[in-house]
Amino acid sequence: MKTFDAIIIGSGQAGTPLAFKMAAHQKKVAFIEKEHLGGTCLNVGCTPTKTYVASARRMWDAQHGEELGVFIPPGQKQTFRKSKPAKMPLSNNP
Ligand SMILES: Cc1cc2nc3c(=O)[nH]c(=O)nc-3n(C[C@H](O)[C@H](O)[C@H](O)COP(=O)(O)OP(=O)(O)OC[C@H]3O[C@@H](n4cnc5c(N)ncnc54)[C@H](O)[C@@H]3O)c2cc1C
Repeated sequence: MKTFDAIIIGSGQAGTPLAFKMAAHQKKVAFIEKEHLGGTCLNVGCTPTKTYVASARRMWDAQHGEELGVFIPPGQKQTFRKSKPAKMPLSNNP
């Protein structure tokens, strides 16, 4: 049977630094992640990812608007170059 000093479940902002810190102190660590390595913040939560996700959702809504009676002319597009600066005024606020 394998033994560990610690078993860390979840590779988000909490688990990842803890796993690295324990390993740096020569602890034997089992690191378990069930979904996306990096957790919520890295993959869906924090900026800029959440800005991209929000933009993509709006685009999906626009493309499927007809199902709800909203008609948007063809040729609409999404540009990530515009999506990213959209969060800048907030993050640059002192
Ligand atoms: C929509 C959204 C937007 C956010 N935006 C921001 C932001 O802009 N700035 C900011 O600072 N914070 C933001 N946050 C908060 C930030 O994402 C969290 O504070 C941070 O992710 C918490 O880290 P955590 O390690 O506790 O959890 P998580 O990052 O959620 O990590 C937990 C991990 O554990 C895994 N897990 C769970 N159960 C098991 C299991 N049984 N077995 C194996 N693995 C498991 C999950 O798959 C996940 O990867 C946002 C959160 C959300 C939901």
